[in-house]
Amino acid sequence: MTPDDFRKWSVKAAEWGANYRASIRDKPVRAQTAPGEIAARIAGRPPEQGEPMEAIFADFESTILPGMTHWQHPRFFAYFPANAAPVSVVAEYLVSAMAAQCMLWQTSPAATELETKVLDWLRQAIGLPEGFAGVIQDSASSATLAAILVMRERALAFRGNRQGLAANPPVRVYASDQVHSSIDRAIWVSGIGEANLVRIAAKGPMRAMDIDALEAAIRTDRQAGLVPAGIVACVGGTSVGATDDIAAVCAVAKRHGLYVHVDAAWAGSAMICPEFRDLWAGVEQADSIVFNPHKWLGAQFDCSAHFIRDPDSLVKTLAIQPEYLKTHGRDGVINYSEWSVPLGRRFRALKIWFLLRAHGLEGLRTMIRNHVAWSRALAERLSKEPDFEIVTAPMLSLFTFRHLGGDDADRHNLDLVNAINDDGRIYLTQTRIDGRIAIRFQAGQFDMTQADGEAAFEVIGEIARRIA
Ligand SMILES: *Cc1c(COP(=O)(O)O)cnc(C)c1O
Repeated sequence: MTPDDFRKWSVKAAEWGANYRASIRDKPVRAQTAPGEIAARIAGRPPEQGEPMEAIFADFESTILPGMTHWQHPRFFAYFPANAAPVSVVAEYLVSAMAAQCMLWQTSPAATELETKVLDWLRQAIGLPEGFAGVIQDSASSATLAAILVMRERALAFRGNRQGLAANPPVRVYASDQVHSSIDRAIWVSGIGEANLVRIAAKGPMRAMDIDALEAAIRTDRQAGLVPAGIVACVGGTSVGATDDIAAVCAVAKRHGLYVHVDAAWAGSAMICPEFRDLWAGVEQADSIVFNPHKWLGAQFDCSAHFIRDPDSLVKTLAIQPEYLKTHGRDGVINYSEWSVPLGRRFRALKIWFLLRAHGLEGLRTMIRNHVAWSRALAERLSKEPDFEIVTAPMLSLFTFRHLGGDDADRHNLDLVNAINDDGRIYLTQTRIDGRIAIRFQAGQFDMTQADGEAAFEVIGEIARRIA
């Protein structure tokens, strides 16, 4: 590509992006395509000769676009959001143009120093006290893996990396039965093994870990000669927003010398609003906390904020060169690749900086407060309809419901989700609660309006009654 062509196609891509966002409401939210349909339209062999950009771009529009689910659609109510505020897209364009690899301070000093600064901005924004250091991980899964590796190494006096686990008694980690599957994976990958992830039953309206059961499990394990290492607590679990009592979990951990990692991947963004911080009261006692600005806050995927009370133990676990242990960042330069599993890292701090400056915390708080209010309003309206039931009350902007129609309630509600998503005006997903299907609704897309919440009420009611 010549420099002139690079300019031309960059401008064209930017115009395309702006037009795409402007017309996104006209598209069905979930892709309306069958498996294999897109692949069938893509050449089976790579081209021997270069092709003109006109042809490549045209194929992008005709072949790829119809197979996309539109995560930036204002009526995306499925899963959790993956918001990319336009300003963060602009930042990502600049990052992509520079394409710096930010593994060490010297490979990109500004990226490292901006990362330290904006993570401290985020720390203040969510109300964590001074003393927590932040790092951007590519995903909450990676942050959780890093935290579990620290748990393991701390419990084994930092011998695990060298000796492996076979030389030591089993390391034990505790979590509720509501935590995300990324915790299971971290347990597998860390070599701790699923058999040593102790599931503590969740109870009560918040579906929080039973604290007495947690305490008992740790005591039993210790008496049996096993090595309790840490607890993974969740704030805003993926299924229905399950939230542990963080203060109580940390008190147990303190008594037993365990490490606490808090997974607030989705709900953490809401902590920029002081009125929601009761949900994670006690979090300042935790050792490690992760939340995803790439979910609710609006920093283009991927961007996971990981806060750690003692970066030394993280660096001691992950840094490959022992001399670096001495300059983990408080006094010398920071090499963030020593704070995460991958060596190479993208420049992710720029989009946070752009986002926070362009919208201000007040702008982002207003968005989150609106989402919470609109979700509650929808739950309230559905609860008044005789043929709907609310299964779990709103936790922030997430609640679950069921339509009462047909003999097989699971089948009927799955059919309803499929019918709604085939219709395309809104997008929802389902979950299983105490063995039974329920439909999840979360309000969280960056450009959602009150009218979109009202449209959800109309669409859900209309389609439910049509298929009942
Ligand atoms: C989304 C989510 C995750 C996984 O996040 P990734 O960044 O995709 O790894 C983990 N935990 C919870 C509670 C989540 O909602």
